[in-house]
Amino acid sequence: MTDWQQLDQQYLMNTYQRYPLMIKRAEGNYIYDEHDQAYLDLFTGLAVNTLGHRHPRLLQAIQQQLELYLHISNNFLNPPAIKLAQRLVKHTLGTGKVFFTNSGAESSEALIKLIHKWTQFHQVDREGIVVIKNSFHGRTLGALRLTRQNSVYQDFPAPDFPIFEVEAEDQAELAALCEQSRPAAILVEPIMGSGGVISLSKEYLLFIQSIAQKHKMLFCIDEIQTGMGRTGTLFAYQADQLDPDCILFAKGIGGGLPLGGVIAKDHVANAFKPGDHGTTFAPSPLSAALGNAVFDVLLDDGLLEESQRSVHALWSALTDLQEEFQVISRIDGRGMMIGIHTQLSTTQVKEIQKRLLNNGFLVNVTAQTVIRLLPPLTLTIEEINLFIKALTNELKQLKHLQSSK
Ligand SMILES: *Cc1c(COP(=O)(O)O)cnc(C)c1O
Repeated sequence: MTDWQQLDQQYLMNTYQRYPLMIKRAEGNYIYDEHDQAYLDLFTGLAVNTLGHRHPRLLQAIQQQLELYLHISNNFLNPPAIKLAQRLVKHTLGTGKVFFTNSGAESSEALIKLIHKWTQFHQVDREGIVVIKNSFHGRTLGALRLTRQNSVYQDFPAPDFPIFEVEAEDQAELAALCEQSRPAAILVEPIMGSGGVISLSKEYLLFIQSIAQKHKMLFCIDEIQTGMGRTGTLFAYQADQLDPDCILFAKGIGGGLPLGGVIAKDHVANAFKPGDHGTTFAPSPLSAALGNAVFDVLLDDGLLEESQRSVHALWSALTDLQEEFQVISRIDGRGMMIGIHTQLSTTQVKEIQKRLLNNGFLVNVTAQTVIRLLPPLTLTIEEINLFIKALTNELKQLKHLQSSK
């Protein structure tokens, strides 16, 4: 064990199973360990470093803001934040307002309070939020009520507000629940992330929207992982032409700094009055400056558009791989958010992950048997070919291992 591993175990609470890897620096699509070994980063700090590491536009934006100030407070006008909010609204709902936070979980918390205030403000005689089984919306106690993964919430106390869990894609169940239990809102991840990269069908999403409209419920979308270009459109819901009332964002928008929030239509946003909600830090002017730089690169510089070539190459290579190897049951997701669903054991999948790491490729495993890829949009065709070759090798070796049993 290295000194760092020892110190890590002695001084940091044991909430993560870490890779046996110390990252010394990162550049572009690669991270480097203490021996200067390079790893292609197909995990991007969990869908955060969407532009790769140390993108020049990000470094420039942070430098410019550093010259001005690091922190003010929400008692003053914050131009980088105002500009970012304007861009978020313009590229999503058209009109509406933003509340900024420092993380995904805080965005979920803000949404819970906002929904509650909205029911009071408009005297809506409905209460509670519908969420989907196995969804993930964060780990603070309020957000944890929305998160429907047993292993994540079972050991913790649950705040007392109504939550209704439904099975994904079951239209009849949702229709009956909205009729009988009178919930105020429904919140969904358009592509469930930590639940295993599972896309909700367009048909189901449109059904949710129509049920929400019918009962005058709020239709809320968690784009914390799927947003900011990850799935090929700025936000994933835009591919299905949905019309949500509220959108959660975080992860990729801060370009590596903590930033999140809620975008809401005016009739919802206006329910918040001074004193109803707040936070000391969000949005940090630095985070907001980076958020604006992420917009610049994705839209003005055209990275979102440009990345489609790599997206196609990666998906077509993975589809071929699925045909070759029966252990791959399905490739789910969209754009640069990909779940390779396998029929392997968790041990086998973890073994593949470890071997890929030893060969210089960083991938994630989620929902026990799904290899999750969250590559930067800057991923090149050459890098895709290298990765596919490495993954093919591992799958072949596995075949060999299985047949020799
Ligand atoms: C990561 C994630 C969250 C929580 O974000 P944190 O910043 O870790 O609190 C919430 N919802 C979704 C869909 C996520 O992927």
